[in-house]
Amino acid sequence: MEKATPLLVLVLLSLASSLTFAADPSPLQDFCVADNMSPVLVNGVVCKDPMLAQASDFFFPGLDMPRNTNNRVGSNVTAVNVVQIPGLNTLGIFMARIDFAPYGLNPPHTHPRGTEMIVVQEGTLLVGLIHFQFNVGQTNAVAIAALASQNPGVITIANAVFGSNLPISYDVLAKAFQLDKKVVDFLQAQFGPKN
Ligand code: MN
Repeated sequence: MEKATPLLVLVLLSLASSLTFAADPSPLQDFCVADNMSPVLVNGVVCKDPMLAQASDFFFPGLDMPRNTNNRVGSNVTAVNVVQIPGLNTLGIFMARIDFAPYGLNPPHTHPRGTEMIVVQEGTLLVGLIHFQFNVGQTNAVAIAALASQNPGVITIANAVFGSNLPISYDVLAKAFQLDKKVVDFLQAQFGPKN
């Protein structure tokens, strides 16, 4: 019985763990060029007639071009997804070029439906994983991100918490984040729906 204990522990541990898996369902066709004009709502985007697919449906120029990072966070995300490349529809990928100014950052955020991989092409980038993702550009940096979903979603924490419409009440935010109510007021003004 004693010899069986480690095995029992392993079995119990394996039963207790579960895989976290965030990706899109497998496509049912080789390609499904998005009909971004269709009024039909489905889980994804409606395919246009494959006979009408064109080379331009699979092309997006300009990812090599530096973007303006002169904004309050010092970064600029250029998304390339099914909106820019209709041919990506159902293929489960979302790409982005991210330009960082010195000490710029990509605010703490999470992608509820996607796993993200980042390749830094130039400069140095500090990336923190705090159960969600947090990028800090240390010097001028250019990064390419790929996410395993055509619509990974993005929840930017500060905007979600302090910029919600309707706002979360002062009392809740002050207590939850241990902040003075004046600070809550300031933060809501920064991230509120009007900004
Ligand atoms: Mn991200």
